[in-house]
Amino acid sequence: MKNMSFTRDEIKRHLQANGAEQQELFKHARQVRNEAGGDGLNIRGVIELSNRCAENCLYCAMRRDNHLLDRYDLDEEAVVAAAGQIINSGIPTVFMQSGESAKCAVLLESVIPKIFSKHRCDILLCAGKKSAETYKRYKEAGTTGYILKFEAANPSLYENATGASYEERLSCIRDIRSAGMKLGTGNILGLPNQTLDDIADDILLAIELSPDYVSVAPFIPNQGTPYENASKGDINLTLNVMAIWRIAFPDALIPTVSALEYIHPDGQAAGLSAGANVITVNFTPKQNRDKYAIYAKDRFVVGLEHAYKTARRAGMSLNMRKK
Ligand code: SAH
Repeated sequence: MKNMSFTRDEIKRHLQANGAEQQELFKHARQVRNEAGGDGLNIRGVIELSNRCAENCLYCAMRRDNHLLDRYDLDEEAVVAAAGQIINSGIPTVFMQSGESAKCAVLLESVIPKIFSKHRCDILLCAGKKSAETYKRYKEAGTTGYILKFEAANPSLYENATGASYEERLSCIRDIRSAGMKLGTGNILGLPNQTLDDIADDILLAIELSPDYVSVAPFIPNQGTPYENASKGDINLTLNVMAIWRIAFPDALIPTVSALEYIHPDGQAAGLSAGANVITVNFTPKQNRDKYAIYAKDRFVVGLEHAYKTARRAGMSLNMRKK
């Protein structure tokens, strides 16, 4: 199917859609998804490896200056065991996400080949900035795809919100592609000082990068961060971004993230109605889960039952691993 392109004005109009106009946008997005053969809901099992992080993003509770957070690192045995649980549950993709530390980079080098040789499954990573050589080694060890969100397409908005270099982030995104992995990227919606034009730029940058996976999460103010008193991201704007991306990328994997459920009851089912086709179930060992404070201390943790319920609500069925 032909990728649809949008002008900035069209994007801004769709972003502001509400009521009947929004329902039309969502209907169009579902049609595009279903015509591309994507009326099944893809499922990932996530293991959150460590909440230790060298970065200092102002929105994230794992930031290095958050001294109140109790830090943990999973060991190889725990990660391989959790991957086994994912596969035994019939879930085809092992997704490993993490804060950024040298220790975690080493852990990844040892667990990727172990998981790949045992299960021959899809392995997806979201573990931050690495060198081009490291991305290549992850690919050679069996990694299918890597998610590195650009977070904000506006360089000064990105740099103010992360304290890191925008050029470096984009260069890592290009290195992921060059390493031969599938690319995931996306943004945070509702960062302090973000304008409608900034969001339109996020959409246009994603279209330019043409990722295999693309995701948007509403900003959730995290305790213990400089942004803790800021307002959370808007659900309607978030859903509209998802729908626009679906229309632009008929085949992409677009997750309905747990932050949607956190800001709104049945928020994840609404994400599916706006064109998403992926849900992520949490397999981080229970004693560590609360410490992975990516969205909020009391974040919504997705279990298999919730994934089934959400799929049913949206009239979709889960794409489980073929035995
Ligand atoms: N260190 C890795 C993984 C970070 S967590 C990296 O930088 O890629 C994965 C994603 O969670 C981030 O890319 C960010 O988009 C999102 N995230 C973190 N804190 C958030 C918050 N408070 N609200 C919304 N999204 C957040």
